[in-house]
Amino acid sequence: MQIKSIECYPLRIPGHPYCGGHDTRKNTGQYGDYTTHAVYRAIYTMNAETLLVKITSDDGVVGWGETQAAITPHIVAQLVNELVAPGYLGQDPHDYAVLRDRAYDRLRDRGHDSGQYVDAISACDIALHDLLGKVHGKPVHQLLGGAYRQEIPCYVSGVPAVSVAEQADHMRRWQEQGFNRFKISLGYGVKQDIAHMEGLRRELGDEPTFLVDQHWVYDLNDSIRIGRAFEALGIGFMECPMDAEIFAQYGKLCAALDLPIALGEEFRTRYRFKERIDAGALDIAQPDIGRLGITEGMRVTTLCNAAGIPSAPHIGSGLAPYTAASLQVAAATENLFLLEFQPTQIAVSDEYFTPSIRPRAGAYHLSDLPGLGVEPIEDKIKEHRFA
Ligand SMILES: [Mg+2]
Repeated sequence: MQIKSIECYPLRIPGHPYCGGHDTRKNTGQYGDYTTHAVYRAIYTMNAETLLVKITSDDGVVGWGETQAAITPHIVAQLVNELVAPGYLGQDPHDYAVLRDRAYDRLRDRGHDSGQYVDAISACDIALHDLLGKVHGKPVHQLLGGAYRQEIPCYVSGVPAVSVAEQADHMRRWQEQGFNRFKISLGYGVKQDIAHMEGLRRELGDEPTFLVDQHWVYDLNDSIRIGRAFEALGIGFMECPMDAEIFAQYGKLCAALDLPIALGEEFRTRYRFKERIDAGALDIAQPDIGRLGITEGMRVTTLCNAAGIPSAPHIGSGLAPYTAASLQVAAATENLFLLEFQPTQIAVSDEYFTPSIRPRAGAYHLSDLPGLGVEPIEDKIKEHRFA
């Protein structure tokens, strides 16, 4: 069996902005086709934007992959077409790890270990796993060694609101549906962040699991100050309080606090995780399968497991193949904390993919469908293909 073709579907579906925990401070200015945030330094899209990759074998089996490509997915598509596809075409899909590693090596002297080039490789890696699952009639987790669990516990990511009271109301509605774990995006100042979480505890009591994403905005001293207050409030983890590049300071932060520190969403190789593990600079790993792919993602969770670090795979903006790939890795990961759930992204996915993988009662539920277990409604996604 050989890889016969690789087709890219850069998508821009109007509306459906990824919310995460962002509040109304998003969309404060324009940057090209994208939008800026009043506090966070990254740019964002106000649409659903992503890149799907369709790989077809010479016997007609089709696999779908996706990377996180909310910004310029057509650029990632060009990288797939010009730099990744030539190494994959004509090769056996069973050699997915070698294909991935050789693609990684090909740009070794031109920025190979992060950014959109690795995203391009990862989309193809996910598509090959979907294809192989269909070839063998098995769900991807069975190709990865099996599922440690059929139900994958998750947390609701981002409950956007302009006030604590409004956010608490949204959370009560989630609680009625069986969800009691939430991640809140803060990073608006030491006093304000602490007051916000105190307010949520007052509104909802001690039962809910609250996780906080700080979007890389603080220095070490402020991170420790907030972290001590969060410990008293029983916060489950604090994500990315500081720039991830300064991992010696993360070592100090982890040593100073009992509050678990979570990070890793932007890393695209196992090496980035190993550096932090060696420096004692993380407590919970957040590998993003849309950026790592399944092959490197499994290497990361295995590495973290050997270091006693639980994995909580990160899910940001993207559609069903990305979420489904994350679900398959989470199932096959021995030391799992929680998987992220992005309600706005599942809502778009449900319009364009079948069957729905929407979590119910606080957990995703594994299916035994072959491959990733989701299929696009191809005519509908073609309407939003651009570039
Ligand atoms: Mg984050």
